[in-house]
Amino acid sequence: MSRYDSRSGDPSSYRDRRSDSGFGASTGYGGSVRSSSSRNSYEVVESPRKLDLDGLTPFEKNFYVESPAVAEMSDREVEEYRLQREITVEGLDVPKPVKSFRDVGFPGKTLAYLLPKEITKAGFVEPTPIQAQGWPMALRGRDLIGIAETGSGKTLAYLLPAIVHVNAQPILSPGDGPIVLVLAPTRELAVQIQNECTKFGASSKIKNTCIYGGVPKGPQVRDLQKGVEIVIATPGRLIDMLDSHHTNLRRVTYLVLDEADRMLDMGFEPQIRKLVSQIRPDRQTLYWSATWPKEVEQLARQFLYNPYKVIIGSQDLKANHAIRQHVDIVSENQKYNKLVKLLEDIMDGSRILIFMDTKKGCDQITRQLRMDGWPALSIHGDKSQAERDWVLSEFKAGKSPIMTATDVAARGLDVKDVKYVINYDFPGSLEDYVHRIGRTGRAGAKGTAYTFFTAANARFAKELISILEEAGQKVSPDLAAMGRGAPPPPSGHGGFRDRGRGHGSGRSWN
Ligand code: AMP
Repeated sequence: MSRYDSRSGDPSSYRDRRSDSGFGASTGYGGSVRSSSSRNSYEVVESPRKLDLDGLTPFEKNFYVESPAVAEMSDREVEEYRLQREITVEGLDVPKPVKSFRDVGFPGKTLAYLLPKEITKAGFVEPTPIQAQGWPMALRGRDLIGIAETGSGKTLAYLLPAIVHVNAQPILSPGDGPIVLVLAPTRELAVQIQNECTKFGASSKIKNTCIYGGVPKGPQVRDLQKGVEIVIATPGRLIDMLDSHHTNLRRVTYLVLDEADRMLDMGFEPQIRKLVSQIRPDRQTLYWSATWPKEVEQLARQFLYNPYKVIIGSQDLKANHAIRQHVDIVSENQKYNKLVKLLEDIMDGSRILIFMDTKKGCDQITRQLRMDGWPALSIHGDKSQAERDWVLSEFKAGKSPIMTATDVAARGLDVKDVKYVINYDFPGSLEDYVHRIGRTGRAGAKGTAYTFFTAANARFAKELISILEEAGQKVSPDLAAMGRGAPPPPSGHGGFRDRGRGHGSGRSWN
């Protein structure tokens, strides 16, 4: 019997799971035990998601076969590996992590051969922490909460199990909607996910399409009507497509919510609820977020059933240590001149990403920079999709090495080799600060972040200092004073001069 064949006798298949999981009779629905391997604490959490499965055709979702090498890992080895790679797990019966691609155990002869081949072709050496722990969890068919950021390899952490899942389902019939649905907050992230999906799904002949607003519907409608196994979508456009009957979610058995925190920030909760309500309740749901605020947790409790939870990195807000962080205390009207001086110092053709608060500010500063001869373009939510795509490609190709952006570009954007991030305006939260500067220093590279900090930002001083200190960065006396509640120094006093320069810059800046 092949690994695949063994699925039919799996204990967590549809019928068994109903009685197995405490669903129904005595314990109500979805009571589950939560455990943290690193903390050894156990508590019971109730999942309010009710499974009403009457009339639904069973489907397969547990494909995991632990390899002998993984099975041999002692509890202590598992613990050490998780500690060393900053993996925290919660949930009942958590599988051991897989340290190498060889041991993931993708089922089926074709998949066992194809997926690692794609991985080798991509030049990946080992699973990232979220993949090492997330793959066995997701392959088991259980719901999963993943707290991991863009850049952690999370897209493949949910896409490869999605490919396995699709391969095990009956093929699509005319009129069928997708089997896998990935919801993402922005068009940019959706396109990035699609690229990964195309790269790794191609050899399994799995079709995908990306459904997002701001572009003509025609080609997307045609893709949907031809039949695609994987749909990656932003919520609004997908609802459009459903309302006009271009697709349906009846076949969705694998649902991914990517960057749930961002989706909630952007006000997508009603749309997400509407979409999820159309999907069968015994689906497998993978819920991803970079942060874990109350609202994100509340939604998870409603959508997930007996989930695993895996957290990558420390649960405290931390900046990537490969990024040098400089903070300059300025007044609002000094910002532009300071920006130009900074650009004069650091500009060496490398990519520079500048964050602004507003679309208007973004446009104004970009216009001014261009008038002053700087190769800058801007990206924000009011731009047409064609323009955003073009700006991003000019930036990625290095033809326009300066890009100004609102927070739309902060999360999710996977542009390699951004050398500098400049916070022209301080963001609305420290989490956004960490995410913004995290657009540099990716994939082992060094990066530098410069931040203008004004009196209006004083309430963030204390937390910003903690982030700087944790990352081993210098805190200027002026910022330290603001952290103690002192007013900002008189105008013109600040500067990045006493905190060194960006990696690779030979000139000084003041
Ligand atoms: P993500 O967090 O999904 O946005 O991934 C960030 C980048 O890491 C993408 O360009 C991926 O192709 C890449 N990546 C994914 N998995 C691995 C891996 N195991 N090793 C190295 N790079 C990876």
